[in-house]
Amino acid sequence: MNILVLNAGSSSQKSCLYGLDDSFATPKASRLPAEPIPPLWEGSIDWTYPAGAATIKVKTAKGTGWQQTIHDRDQPKVLQQLLNTLWQGETQVIADPSAIAIVGHRVVHGGQRYRASTWITDEVKQAIADFAEFAPVHNPANFQGIVAIEQILGPSVPQVAVFDTAFHADIPPTAATYAIPYELYQQGIRKYGFHGISHQSVAERAAHCLGRDLADLRLITCHLGNGCSLAAIAHGRCVDTTMGFTPLAGLMMGARSGDIDPGILLHLLRHHGYTVDDLDRLLNQESGLKGVSGLSNDLRQIRAAIATGHERAQLAYDLYIYRLRTEISALLPALGGLDALVFTAGVGENSVEVRADVCAGLAFLGLRLDHDRNAQNLKDVSLATPDSTVDVLAIHTEEDWAIAQACWQLAHAS
Ligand code: AMP
Repeated sequence: MNILVLNAGSSSQKSCLYGLDDSFATPKASRLPAEPIPPLWEGSIDWTYPAGAATIKVKTAKGTGWQQTIHDRDQPKVLQQLLNTLWQGETQVIADPSAIAIVGHRVVHGGQRYRASTWITDEVKQAIADFAEFAPVHNPANFQGIVAIEQILGPSVPQVAVFDTAFHADIPPTAATYAIPYELYQQGIRKYGFHGISHQSVAERAAHCLGRDLADLRLITCHLGNGCSLAAIAHGRCVDTTMGFTPLAGLMMGARSGDIDPGILLHLLRHHGYTVDDLDRLLNQESGLKGVSGLSNDLRQIRAAIATGHERAQLAYDLYIYRLRTEISALLPALGGLDALVFTAGVGENSVEVRADVCAGLAFLGLRLDHDRNAQNLKDVSLATPDSTVDVLAIHTEEDWAIAQACWQLAHAS
């Protein structure tokens, strides 16, 4: 069974093709193993560079690479070019489009309606389009990806939506409700949470790596990439998360503010002539590490500037760490304790300093990081000392594999 995974973001489109047969499934549960298998083919479209164009990059499991820049921004046309490389030319890995059994999509917002992955029907498509009101950047890209696949592969190819919000859909009302008039909650203004595919899959892998049952663990997963969020996970279920109604909430991020006093927005609107679009840009693109340092949203550049004595880079970094420590601590009551802290995504997987500095602030929990193991950037094993009360892990997030797993499970359940 060949499963094509599409992960469409605001500025990029990542895709991969997994070639799976029944030998991959564990005998009992029709589930694929937690450990990912390498995809046969990986492709990406970068919509940001060069301006007005799209850059396609492809590589296969055999190591063949291909790249092309297309001066066209029509999504179906560019996606068609990308997918052509699956069955044509040097990067060909399947005979023709009919060899694709299922297409799985990461869909950012499924509201409260979609609490699990689902086959895409006209009704599901309409719901994804409707939820664009809550996720204006991502859901339209997800919707267009689904329509483009119908055009390219034909309407009969089964498609699956795997929602970033689904893992958080059962967080209790005390975590999901904002202290504003309840009528707004009834209209859908509530905490949804995001990065759910990543949080769920790294929680499952953490349990696997620790040789423990997920049902026995209290975890905080830290997804630290360009976007940053935490999830508090008790017995395999998310009980709270730091992103909220939108992916702007919670932690300080690369260029997003995270939580700020909402009164600041009123002040900027009333007294500084800001428009709604100005606020959107300020909070989503000009804040976070970038806004405070005045340099960059990329943590590597912030660290390099700190090494040259750049004071605002130091402040941005200190604030980033402080917010992580305080938000992790704020989730502890929801769990009643902590068995493991799990780091993932670009920063979480790679930054030895961020892990060390966050953990140093949590020593009051009895958490002790093994600095040698941390410095070696070991993955999938505990980075804590044997006497630590809390395990610490760095796990590579495998969203695409999680989407393939969801497709496989739906196919084997029906
Ligand atoms: P992601 O959104 O998961 O792709 O993460 C992207 C971010 O990860 C980048 O903006 C960098 O700030 C960060 N990152 C990637 N590699 C490293 C590294 N080796 N050290 C520190 N930060 C890194």
